[in-house]
Amino acid sequence: MDYKVLAEILFPDVTDTPESLEEKFPPRNYPEGAVITRMAPSPTGFVHLGNLVQGLTSERMAHQSGGVLFLRVEDTDAKREVPGAVEVLINTLKHYGIQFDEGATIDGDAGLYGPYRQRQRAAIYHVYAKKLVSEGQAYPCFCTEEELAAMREKQEAAKETTGYYGPYAMWRDRSMEDIQAQLDAGNPWVLRFRSTGSIENQFKFDDLVKGKLTITENNVDHVLLKSDGIPTYHFAHAVDDHLMRTTHVVRGDEWLPTLPFHIQLFKALGFKLPKYVHIGPLMKMDGSSKRKLSKRKDPELALTFYKAEGFPVKAVYEYIMTILNSNFEDWRRANPDAPAESFKFSPKKLNPAGSLFDYAKLTDVSKNVISRMTAEEVYGLLTEWAKEFDPGFGEKLEADPAYATRILAIGRGGKKPRKDLAVWKDAKDYMGFFYDEYLDAPVFDEKFDKTVVTDVLNRFLASFDIGDDSGVWFDKVKAITTDMGFTTDMKAYKADPAAYKGTVADISTMIRVAVTGKTNSPDLYTVMQILGSERTIQRIRDAIASLA
Ligand code: GLU
Repeated sequence: MDYKVLAEILFPDVTDTPESLEEKFPPRNYPEGAVITRMAPSPTGFVHLGNLVQGLTSERMAHQSGGVLFLRVEDTDAKREVPGAVEVLINTLKHYGIQFDEGATIDGDAGLYGPYRQRQRAAIYHVYAKKLVSEGQAYPCFCTEEELAAMREKQEAAKETTGYYGPYAMWRDRSMEDIQAQLDAGNPWVLRFRSTGSIENQFKFDDLVKGKLTITENNVDHVLLKSDGIPTYHFAHAVDDHLMRTTHVVRGDEWLPTLPFHIQLFKALGFKLPKYVHIGPLMKMDGSSKRKLSKRKDPELALTFYKAEGFPVKAVYEYIMTILNSNFEDWRRANPDAPAESFKFSPKKLNPAGSLFDYAKLTDVSKNVISRMTAEEVYGLLTEWAKEFDPGFGEKLEADPAYATRILAIGRGGKKPRKDLAVWKDAKDYMGFFYDEYLDAPVFDEKFDKTVVTDVLNRFLASFDIGDDSGVWFDKVKAITTDMGFTTDMKAYKADPAAYKGTVADISTMIRVAVTGKTNSPDLYTVMQILGSERTIQRIRDAIASLA
């Protein structure tokens, strides 16, 4: 068989050569050790935590080494594509702080190694397809669905491995006449790789996450081009990552089973093999057992979930770092204010079996992250979130930024900042009472008679002066406490509760409930300072009226 003739028959329009493509996309001029890597997601419209894990790993590896991170859109599966998905993808990754140096952007491609959308690269794949055919390393296969199904049935019945290999590779060695007859009849064909591998052979392979692997050679004649001329993932991976000069392939370990084929393919094409970083799946505890996070069962897999809940991007970022590199947490404790980028990230620290995702831990990290922000920063992020997810609240925040910022400044900045907020969704419950429309009606502890509560509130009103400093203010509360037969001495109260009506804490709670509608609030003195004299007095009067 003259393979060159076959290549001409199959790819008559291909005039470019591998050599010309080598010239067009020359090796990048980067110092030794610079990582050139990519994110290569499929635009399915669903951007998930796995994408972020992969994205952050590649981003850190590229930028920490002074290399390049680019975005390649793997849109070869038109059936799975959702309109607008590329935009969603790009915007979501940007939201999470993944900055690309080149690749697909909202306004088209940026960079010298494109196009960066696979469907626009058909002509490039065909150059290499033609090369492989001309060398006898690939061949057309005209098998119908029915023939493939019958083959599978036969293999299953004989308890053999299923697949298109060895004696089952029906079109592997067919004559030119057979091929021509099919082509003349206009029958569709796929292009298959002619595997020379044997499952008898094993070799060692080093993965940056999985460590040393023993790999069995591939003996399957996998599909390179589908019948519409669009490549499979495998073929596109080899061609694109070679021509885009990727040094490290960071991807999910669901690709591990086809790695033997990829290695074989790079060799057949004469390409240098990149390094591989196969990331394990994200797991979660389900009862007492671990399982993979699932799109169907776990809403927290979708990145939109974190945005809607109001996790600051920085919190999600820090949390992902925590699960990827176990030493990140210690580093963060030692360097509370350092930018996360100054942490030395290592792919070698990733758990080869996958990371355990723990929502409670994320919430904790987020509380810490928010507690270290300035009031202005919190105000900006919270308002942005509220405008999208709670517009009424957003309007209030925007109407008086100085007021909202004063509220958000409570308990901030010291050595032990308050940790009230884990997500922006918590904010309304925490600070809503500062806005009259969100103030809950006071509900007092029934343990105390209404007349007692009224008396306490009246006494407070009579003594209240917004100009008091916090010491004087509290002295007044204490005076009411003792005057009313309550005590400020907690020990004495514990020793003999029957001797008192209650404690200073009960008195404070009555005032707190009157002013905030809640039994829990930030420092009450500060709350009153922010509300101002008039509104504080009005709220206490309203509470007294509600008791009548
Ligand atoms: N499009 C593939 C995926 O979404 C890319 C894998 C890779 O990074 O090579 O799984």
